[in-house]
Amino acid sequence: MPQPHFLLLTYPAQGHINPSLQFAKHLIRVGVRVTFMTTISARSRMTKVPAAQGLSFSPFSDGYDDGMKPGDDIDRYLSELRRRGKEALSEFIITSENEGKPVTCIVYSLLLPWAAQVAREHHIPSAILWSQPATVFDIYYFYFNGYESAIKDQTNESNSKCSIKLPGLPPLATRDLPSFCNGSNVYHSVLALFQEQMEVLAEESDAKVLVNTFDALEPEALKAIDKFKMIGIGPLIPMDNSLRTDLFQSDSNDYLQWLDSKPKSSVVYVSFGSLAVLAKQQVEEIARALIAGGRPFLWVVRNQKDGGQEETEEEKLSCREELEQLGRIVPWCSQVEVLSHPSLGCFVSHCGWNSTLESLVAGVPVVAFPQWTDQGTNAKLIEDVWKTGVRVTGNEEGLVERGEIVRCLDLVMGGGEKGKEVRKNARKWKELTAEAAVEGGSLDMNLQAFVADVAQSCK
Ligand code: UDP
Repeated sequence: MPQPHFLLLTYPAQGHINPSLQFAKHLIRVGVRVTFMTTISARSRMTKVPAAQGLSFSPFSDGYDDGMKPGDDIDRYLSELRRRGKEALSEFIITSENEGKPVTCIVYSLLLPWAAQVAREHHIPSAILWSQPATVFDIYYFYFNGYESAIKDQTNESNSKCSIKLPGLPPLATRDLPSFCNGSNVYHSVLALFQEQMEVLAEESDAKVLVNTFDALEPEALKAIDKFKMIGIGPLIPMDNSLRTDLFQSDSNDYLQWLDSKPKSSVVYVSFGSLAVLAKQQVEEIARALIAGGRPFLWVVRNQKDGGQEETEEEKLSCREELEQLGRIVPWCSQVEVLSHPSLGCFVSHCGWNSTLESLVAGVPVVAFPQWTDQGTNAKLIEDVWKTGVRVTGNEEGLVERGEIVRCLDLVMGGGEKGKEVRKNARKWKELTAEAAVEGGSLDMNLQAFVADVAQSCK
């Protein structure tokens, strides 16, 4: 039988590229040839991608080869990406066929539902790689399948403190719902892509949703929808630091030596991921909280303009000198290495899904500081379901004040009952995560079954 050839089409963002590359690594391990397709702009920023046998890259132009500029419109971008991406995908499928390496499966990331249509036109099986928790997939599914008005009803101001009960999920308050459907941060074009995604899947008789989660982490959420096969193929995390890439530059890695010099479990690591944009006042409150807290800290403050921003995160930072007496500020770091460092005591996180999984893998408790998209749901899971952290609460304007941040840090890192509980749970999840990721664990079993299933359907 010819070697299976999977095409991984990936949206050009760090949080999508990371799990996709890890998925590629696992596919290669089980004998699959992988072509990784993303935009020229993202590919040119991907540093440190080691050559791996069985892996090749096929970047395409989204019309923004030098990245987005301030003022560029997201709706326009998404429509160009769709138009050019569809063409590039079709061309690649035809060329590969002609070269005797036909594509046997297309696995596409979030925000690219049109890839499934192209796959269908070419009679190739496809699956989505869902890089958020199964719980979030379920929420979008229910939103577009019968619950939209109930959710809108709940999220209007007078009801916003109530909770909604969706099948198979814990009760969700307004702040626990993805920002695109709770009225707090609605990008209509993005919500429309989620809707299209659900419709595309519903049209398939055997739709497969590969979720970057694992069976023990979200057992009910993975089974909440009868219509689709949701397969936990996570945690897709570079456990051994292999095949990882950065779209952002770090100035040096001497922060690792700095971490070496700190006592065990003493350091606060602060990062808001690759996309979140904080208000200047919020940056100030975090800075003041770190100084007031008096603990050593490593804070990632990005110094690149991204996604068309006017100002970098670093430009919003005041009191840098004062901060640097206590901690380190870096524009980017190797987060997986940082989280696994023995001096780490706590992760102040925006709760992006990759960061959330990475905190579980490393057994580090979290101060959950969600910003938008799926992060409110992830914070809910951290605080109430796995109980590996506490979540900050904003004031009426949504600002999280310094006192609140210090309170949460004290809870998580202090000697009280709450601190003991979250640290104990973090250790427990570290073990369960490792069990899922070992050879023969749920990741391995589910991945092999999926590859075998695709091979079967190609016969
Ligand atoms: N990351 C990193 N170094 C940093 C900050 C983030 O390597 O200084 C990585 C992090 O490990 C994670 C990804 O960037 O894998 C961010 O993805 P996530 O889903 O957490 O958030 P997003 O950036 O998509 O909001």
